[in-house]
Amino acid sequence: MKIYSYKDLKSTDITSVVQRNVDPANEIRTLVEDIIDNVKQHGDSALVDYASKFDKVLLEKLYLDNAELTEIAAAVSADQQRALQTAYDNIYKFHQSQVKTEDKVETMPGVTCWRELRPIEKVGLYIPGGTAVLPSTFLMLGIPAKIAGCKEIIVCSPPQKNGKVNAFIAYVALMLGIDKVYLVGGAQAVAAMAYGTETISKVDKIFGPGNQFVTKAKTIIQSTTTTAIDMPAGPSEVLVIADETANPAYVAADLLAQAEHGIDSQSVLVSTSQRLIDATLLEVEKQLQVLPRAEIARQAVDNSYAVLTNNLLEAMEFSNQYAPEHLILATDNWEQVTPEIINAGSVFLGNLTPESAGDYASGTNHTLPTSSYARAYSGVSVDSFVKKITFQHLTEQGIQNIGPSVEILAELEGLHAHRNTVSIRLNS
Ligand code: NAD
Repeated sequence: MKIYSYKDLKSTDITSVVQRNVDPANEIRTLVEDIIDNVKQHGDSALVDYASKFDKVLLEKLYLDNAELTEIAAAVSADQQRALQTAYDNIYKFHQSQVKTEDKVETMPGVTCWRELRPIEKVGLYIPGGTAVLPSTFLMLGIPAKIAGCKEIIVCSPPQKNGKVNAFIAYVALMLGIDKVYLVGGAQAVAAMAYGTETISKVDKIFGPGNQFVTKAKTIIQSTTTTAIDMPAGPSEVLVIADETANPAYVAADLLAQAEHGIDSQSVLVSTSQRLIDATLLEVEKQLQVLPRAEIARQAVDNSYAVLTNNLLEAMEFSNQYAPEHLILATDNWEQVTPEIINAGSVFLGNLTPESAGDYASGTNHTLPTSSYARAYSGVSVDSFVKKITFQHLTEQGIQNIGPSVEILAELEGLHAHRNTVSIRLNS
């Protein structure tokens, strides 16, 4: 892992150090555009071909129905069911608290404005299933979709080698009352949900994280179709800010938890202490020895780095420029620096708050913006599944009060038909 000294980094160096998942030769874009075109033209048959090419499985049917999901879900043990239920309950509780009715506002006598929530009718959820199957993502997307009241929920997840989904995905589908899961992964799943095929309905918005192919497909369809996306949520990343109060073994564990996601994941350590950096890197090596996914994690660690800063405020300055998906403040002094956070997807405070708590079960959502999109995007929440429609009502007093101003404003913009909508009412 490379170590930088913050004081030696010029602003142009920082710009290049914080860049990730760039596709300079547009190789991923070209490949993904081909996949999208092919699905648009050939529908289901293209999906079957891609399952064979990328997932190495020959599909006879593109989905599993309720009876098949129930049969597969029977393999989930009682302990596992309890753990999934704990996660479900906490995620539900936290997301339910996001639903709020807004007050009506009388902006001037007789003029009342307000907003009401309406669910997005048709949503598509992408549940990753390439190198690791993520039923936790299914909970993170399915629960807010249900709370919002979305009418149609399409779920796509890559088929496993046996041509099915794993037992946990099936079990979560049943927990959520979703009775069909489509066996489609990658960019082709995004294309299918954006354009629709013989079996998969076109949706209004696509949600969910995925690898670079999935994320690129989402960013392309967002600008080429009428289907929206939650955000670009690509390969996972964590930035840990640690000082002398941090425990190197905990920090190493947090860095590796991110690294094991995929070889394109990134784990960045920003520390005020050279001693802590050295001790953490030794721990990383030690813990790697016993990790089943060591091969993947090792490559991600090689793509990662540490930054030595003079103090916590400098560390936060770097973090804000990186705009991490996950930010861990591994310090007893987290309260001092928390107000300085500007850009981050989700934040974990103090030495006893591992990211995995939020990844699985504390209640917050784990579908978060990556690759510095945390500068402008938030993670998934109930808000992501609703539209906030504005309403207004004018009484007789209202039109008298607001009318003259609207007439003058329409006049100064040269829009006489606009002025007339008010004049005709004021004059009658
Ligand atoms: P995935 O489901 O995203 O991708 C698997 C699919 O990719 C396959 O089904 C296949 O169709 C396609 N694919 C594989 N190789 C391809 C190739 N060479 N060309 C075209 N398509 C190909 O699963 P994954 O690969 O395990 O990735 C999951 C990703 O999700 C990880 O990068 C992880 O870090 C990320 N993640 C992000 C968040 C977040 O909130 N940002 C949360 C969880 C996971």
